[in-house]
Amino acid sequence: MGTLSLLIPLLAGIWVYNDAKKRGHTTTMVLLWAAGTIAMLIVFLPLYLILGRRQPVVKPQRDNAEKTIDVEATVVVEETVCCPMCASKVKTDYKLCPYCGHTMQPKCEFCGCELKREWKNCPNCQQPAVSK
Ligand SMILES: [Zn+2]
Ligand SMILES: [Zn+2]
Repeated sequence: MGTLSLLIPLLAGIWVYNDAKKRGHTTTMVLLWAAGTIAMLIVFLPLYLILGRRQPVVKPQRDNAEKTIDVEATVVVEETVCCPMCASKVKTDYKLCPYCGHTMQPKCEFCGCELKREWKNCPNCQQPAVSK
């Protein structure tokens, strides 16, 4: 009898401790509920069941994290230019028109080095870039 009357409040106290912790009670409140249950099981356990358990179990925050992925960020705006030969829309980073095979990479007339489309002058031989 003596062991049991100590064991029951202790087990109840541990259960209250874990349950209150799970429900997001402050550490002070968790310890208060647990200590109270162990000291005065008859008073604190019903009190905890009525008052303490009102608080819903706090869900881990990871649940919401996956939903916040910005869908609009995945939309990629592709920059295109018109092929001077066939007028097809070709991506700016293509060096060759995939439709007609026209080379989309401008080259310097003088030294033959590859130029960017927006360049007006050849950085290599310093001649003005002639666009055909
Ligand atoms: Zn083309
Ligand atoms: Zn050049």
